[in-house]
Amino acid sequence: MKVPRILVTGGAGFLGSALVAEALAQGGRVTVLDDLSTGRLSNLSAWQDAPGFEFVQGSVTDEALVERLVAAHERVLHMAAVVGVRLVLAAPARTVETNVTGSLNVLRAAARHGREVLLASTSEVYGRREPPFREEAAIELPHPEERRWIYAATKALSERTAFALARSEGLRVLVVRFFNTVGARQRGRYGMVLPNFVRQALAGEPLTVFGDGTQTRSFLAVQDAVRAVGLLLETERAWGQVVNVGSDEEVSILELAQRVVSVTGSRSPIVRMPYREAYGIDVDDIPRRRPALERLAGWTGFRPHFDLDGILREVVAAAPRRRARALEPGR
Ligand code: UDP
Repeated sequence: MKVPRILVTGGAGFLGSALVAEALAQGGRVTVLDDLSTGRLSNLSAWQDAPGFEFVQGSVTDEALVERLVAAHERVLHMAAVVGVRLVLAAPARTVETNVTGSLNVLRAAARHGREVLLASTSEVYGRREPPFREEAAIELPHPEERRWIYAATKALSERTAFALARSEGLRVLVVRFFNTVGARQRGRYGMVLPNFVRQALAGEPLTVFGDGTQTRSFLAVQDAVRAVGLLLETERAWGQVVNVGSDEEVSILELAQRVVSVTGSRSPIVRMPYREAYGIDVDDIPRRRPALERLAGWTGFRPHFDLDGILREVVAAAPRRRARALEPGR
């Protein structure tokens, strides 16, 4: 069997590095392109000397570099993006530059060289609609004054660009809309809720629930996300399509906080924090989020292996315990 050479943009990130690990485990040859703006080399340290692995530090906005790398690989997993509500709000122009220009560079080069691309998109493109979010539904970009939606806009534009190039130049592309993906190596620095709650619980600090906590999310273990991607890449009918990758176990953020407290055995209180205090502005949150999984399950047979309890146990077990005092009795 011929082993494809795979380029993973954003391969030093949380999800990207998990995809790299899987591709190497399958015997693939993998090049990572990452500018290390949010990705970390430590995510890749286990494979730095692996045969067939190469790391290139650079940006997807570097058109010449992208052109050269895409030409040298058969398949591209385009994961590089500015992500995380906090980061997007802090750097809107960079979000557009990286996500739109970067995707355009990757997609154009892939079309030119006849390379296939998995384009990482997001559940944010569904906006504030009622779940389950179906791939065939119209995407939603709520009020442009609401600054969080710039991220969804960049991803929606990347999707459209991909399909335009598929039509006009025969680009072979698969668009995956990832829903909240979580796991041991994820960090909370750019807002992600689960690592924040776990860190707070283990440090004995209050768990900060933004808004009233009734907003829901559905969390998928990164191991399951990687497995789903692997199945999709081998599913011919998924190519040229959009597919949700997520879990349909929907939980409110308040309940998530309660479950983190319970799994950690923490004495931390749970406090509500207005969005304005959390993000510096009033953020238009998504009230509910849950994917429709008919495509993913029907086309690939995928079912998640981890439920939320399993995810929480694993994330907590792997979390650094800098201040384990929080868990000591009598505190
Ligand atoms: N959130 C929270 N406390 C935190 C971080 C996030 O209550 O410390 C909330 C956030 O307002 C949102 C949900 O958790 O309703 C998920 O946030 P995250 O940034 O992880 O992902 P996204 O909003 O992109 O789904």
